[in-house]
Amino acid sequence: MVEIRSVHKSFGSVEVLRGIDLEVAAGRVTVVLGPSGSGKSTLLRTINHLEKVDRGWISVDGALVGYRKGEEFAARRASGKGGGGRRAGKLYELREREILKQRTGIGFVFQNFNLFPHLTVLENLVEAPLAVQRRPRKEAEATARRLLTRVGLAEKADAYPRQLSGGQQQRVAIARALALEPKLLLFDEPTSALDPELVGEVLDVIKDLAHQGTTMIVVTHEIGFAREVADTVVFMDGGRIVEQGPPAQVLDHPRHERTRSFLSKVL
Ligand code: ATP
Ligand code: MG
Repeated sequence: MVEIRSVHKSFGSVEVLRGIDLEVAAGRVTVVLGPSGSGKSTLLRTINHLEKVDRGWISVDGALVGYRKGEEFAARRASGKGGGGRRAGKLYELREREILKQRTGIGFVFQNFNLFPHLTVLENLVEAPLAVQRRPRKEAEATARRLLTRVGLAEKADAYPRQLSGGQQQRVAIARALALEPKLLLFDEPTSALDPELVGEVLDVIKDLAHQGTTMIVVTHEIGFAREVADTVVFMDGGRIVEQGPPAQVLDHPRHERTRSFLSKVL
């Protein structure tokens, strides 16, 4: 479902992603851990082309993110010479409109909810389906109400974000991401802005999605969640993946000293 190959990304002279390779199979959950500044958010942002990669490539559900392949690129990849990014063959960047369309297939849930404050909960959920997908309003509203029920907030359809708790706002944000029927969901520390007693209700919604076979990549420091829900745990440090594997291996028997010392601090 997601294939990330040799991805490099610099900001000015600082290389924050230094050759990332990662695969996520359909229906699987990957949890990404790592210290502050290790490149976790940047990696998520490259997956929906909020950041352009400098080298390497990413594909989601068979489509290259942000680019269209030239023939030479496809041939090189097939011959096993790798697609080391633009230099390996011709890649054409998609137009803005195509990028936006591609992004609707990839839901993104942020730490700070990012709801539209001037819109009701229901309007937050139907905005993109109406504007981007041009769905009929009736249909979009029906979907929105169904999703609100799914995250336990059916009765909040007409409330404004400021009238909700942080946990409720984040559940609305998750429902809003689902409204576009994404193939992939990305979560960037979805519970780290919440009071501790509100974390559980948001994690429960994410667990529910996992059990229903949603493909997701979740950046979080919630180790218990990783242990319970992740198929793969990835530990990043300094722009690299230091190790990855099933939670029982990475969390309980880390191979690298760097992983061990990080886990000893967050556990
Ligand atoms: P945290 O756990 O604190 O969220 P992170 O692992 O998500 O950290 P990133 O946000 O990906 O880390 O940042 C990685 C590095 O890239 C940091 O050194 C950061 O300062 C730098 N960085 C991120 N975005 C930009 C930007 N737009 N311009 C310049 N530097 C950036
Ligand atoms: Mg981050």
